[in-house]
Amino acid sequence: MQFKDVIGQEEVKRKLILSVQENRVPHAQLFLGPAGNGKLPLALAYVQYILCPHRSAIDSCGVCPSCQKISKLTHPDLHFVMPTTTTKSVKSNPESDLFLNEWREYVLQNEGYVDTSSWYGFLEVENKQGAIYVRDASTLLRKLNFKAYEGDYKIAIIWMAEKLRTDTANKLLKLLEEPPEKTLFILIAEDQEELLATIRSRTSLVKVPRLELEAIQEALVQRLNCSAQQASDAAMIAEGSWIKAKEYVKDADDQKYYFRTFQQWMRLCFKAAVNELIDFSNNIKSIGRERQKDLLEYGLGIIRNAQLFNNNLATLVMLPEEEKKFNAGFAPFVNASNIVQIIELLEEASRQIERNGYAPIIFLDCSFKIAKLLRVK
Ligand SMILES: [Zn+2]
Repeated sequence: MQFKDVIGQEEVKRKLILSVQENRVPHAQLFLGPAGNGKLPLALAYVQYILCPHRSAIDSCGVCPSCQKISKLTHPDLHFVMPTTTTKSVKSNPESDLFLNEWREYVLQNEGYVDTSSWYGFLEVENKQGAIYVRDASTLLRKLNFKAYEGDYKIAIIWMAEKLRTDTANKLLKLLEEPPEKTLFILIAEDQEELLATIRSRTSLVKVPRLELEAIQEALVQRLNCSAQQASDAAMIAEGSWIKAKEYVKDADDQKYYFRTFQQWMRLCFKAAVNELIDFSNNIKSIGRERQKDLLEYGLGIIRNAQLFNNNLATLVMLPEEEKKFNAGFAPFVNASNIVQIIELLEEASRQIERNGYAPIIFLDCSFKIAKLLRVK
């Protein structure tokens, strides 16, 4: 990861670079700030800059063996500690070292923009709380006592330092007070309240603020090909978090997909186009059960909205303009004599999908019944 790959945070980058150039990198630093603002990407770019033999005034070279190993998170002098818990594959005594492969895959997949809930999601342990155990501190101590393999420095990144258990923190504090030679610690944390005061007092603070609105907007356009409008909508509600901005864009894409699909489905029902409905129902198989249910749920929303339109309450309908227009045109075909049945049909289809029913049959059956009902005046 190079500094140029990190979204925004120009001020923090400038300070970090300066600390290297002036040869005054503190041996223990705490990167503190809210989720999704790029603390881990900054730490990775910083480490890469420190270890790169060909760094420029503004960034690491990005191509030397050291840079390449860091960008793959496989540099032998770079160590990671992160919260872990028991999982399907690690049934007891979890510790960071047992999860390094998962960690690399997860961090690279998200370009370093990570948070605990998606980490636990990645490990499929959503309902558990992870911790950094005293075993982690022991393993780290052992590793840091070796000489550096390649670079000048050995570096430990401790992600989510608020998850350090007290016994772990105590062990780590000793390490922070009397660090092995040429060792750097970068602790990353989101919640100052949860962080032990002793850890806070032994580290030099690097405050990482929320991302600026413009930085998020620009990144959405460049990295996710968002339109200017979409980028500005997402940046507005992202609260300075790249993770939230990405989620918003994904949700908006899903919403658009459900809209298009439901719109197409209703048009075919309305035309009672038998062959096309058969194709439609067959194709629906490929989207999977969860999305089939979401599509039906989306449809139920449109049907319920129709009631509002028909009662001159269109202002209560919160939908993007294009969807609202479709909804307004569709509403007159939903009326007192068919609405209850249409709702029941969609709900029943969803229950059948839930029970593992065969989607093409369920959708086709539902299609024919809706086609009939839409003609009831
Ligand atoms: Zn390099």
